[in-house]
Amino acid sequence: MSSNAHDVVIVGGGITGIATAYYLAHAGIPSTVIERDAIASHASGFAYGGLSGGIPNGPQPNFPAIAEGMRLHRELAASLAEETDVDIQFQDRPTLKLALSDTEAAALRQHLTWQQAQPGYTVQWLDGTAARALEPRIAPETVGALYVEGSADVEPYRLTLALATAAEKLGAVVRTGTVVGLRQDGGRVTGVALEGGEVVGCEHVVLAMGPWCAQASAWLGLDVPVRPLKGQILRLRASGEPYRISIGHGSNYAMTKPADGLVWTGTTEEDAGFDESKTTAARDHIIEAALRMLPALADAELVLQTACLRPVTPDNALILGRVPTLEGAYIATGGGRQGIMMGPAMAKAVADLIATGATDLPLDAYDPARFGT
Ligand SMILES: Cc1cc2nc3c(=O)[nH]c(=O)nc-3n(C[C@H](O)[C@H](O)[C@H](O)COP(=O)(O)OP(=O)(O)OC[C@H]3O[C@@H](n4cnc5c(N)ncnc54)[C@H](O)[C@@H]3O)c2cc1C
Repeated sequence: MSSNAHDVVIVGGGITGIATAYYLAHAGIPSTVIERDAIASHASGFAYGGLSGGIPNGPQPNFPAIAEGMRLHRELAASLAEETDVDIQFQDRPTLKLALSDTEAAALRQHLTWQQAQPGYTVQWLDGTAARALEPRIAPETVGALYVEGSADVEPYRLTLALATAAEKLGAVVRTGTVVGLRQDGGRVTGVALEGGEVVGCEHVVLAMGPWCAQASAWLGLDVPVRPLKGQILRLRASGEPYRISIGHGSNYAMTKPADGLVWTGTTEEDAGFDESKTTAARDHIIEAALRMLPALADAELVLQTACLRPVTPDNALILGRVPTLEGAYIATGGGRQGIMMGPAMAKAVADLIATGATDLPLDAYDPARFGT
């Protein structure tokens, strides 16, 4: 057993944990990230990377974190290009959300007034002809589409890697280890216990373990009801021009990603516990949904299938902030389908709380105490 004094230990090397190390490093606070596998080896490395700004879905409890996330993503696109050699492939990318029936059109139009009032976005309702003029390969039965300019996308693995590289240059440490519990003294955290018996001492701990944060319920004496929601994505080699607009229909999407020139399309929402295996049922479901949106993909070749787990909460709001049952402990999880979008905002809020005791992000809706002990 060894014990070192660390200011902050962050558990989890996904986008949330790594971005926390990045913002702490910029505030002059050293941290150690402890990751069980490798950084971005779960959802943060295999997400679609769409940064919709939350606009297509309309108002929701996470909107403040989404809006702040979008602001920070634009800031990071500039700062990480100077701080590292990693190209995170952030780019502005309009979104075209299709309605294939009048009922779907009515549902998509219901928040139009709110959507058009959001600064930084241009939102229009297009009829089928206007939508096809933008992307002629969309489903011929498209009756209309929500067209959003101001959305963007990024390559999530590269983003997490760039944040880690920049944080390490400023003194952060990323190391391997599986955290199995916390140590405390008089109601204050004093360290994290690793599998194998090592204890890493710390003054603050940030739990950023994605869906695995549920394990922390026992460590904290607090209900952390985050659960995994599995999602799968296919990468296809398609003929013709790249899909430069992110095309959506229902909960499905498709675009050509610059990282590999392939069309990434998905997705599924599966309650499968912590199983991260790829399935033929999901493959068939995604192909069917993709062909419904973009029939021209019929001749595409399947190159890669990926599967990973989103952290979701019972009320779909983040679990973010100080842990009331243990001084010095913070939790940051629950990004769900938009955890790449919100990751930097979640991370900056926690880093600001540690560095200054306050954050500009309103945290009431994300209170870790709201599910009880
Ligand atoms: C198919 C799919 C598509 C998606 N597309 C998008 C998208 O387009 N836009 C968007 O914004 N979001 C998207 N998401 C959501 C996004 O990927 C997640 O919300 C986000 O990556 C969660 O990040 P995280 O850092 O909280 O958790 P994770 O990425 O899960 O990281 C948690 C880390 O903690 C580690 N860990 C767990 N337990 C321990 C332990 N005991 N000790 C040490 N380490 C531990 C894990 O190994 C893991 O690396 C998508 C998700 C899926 C599944």
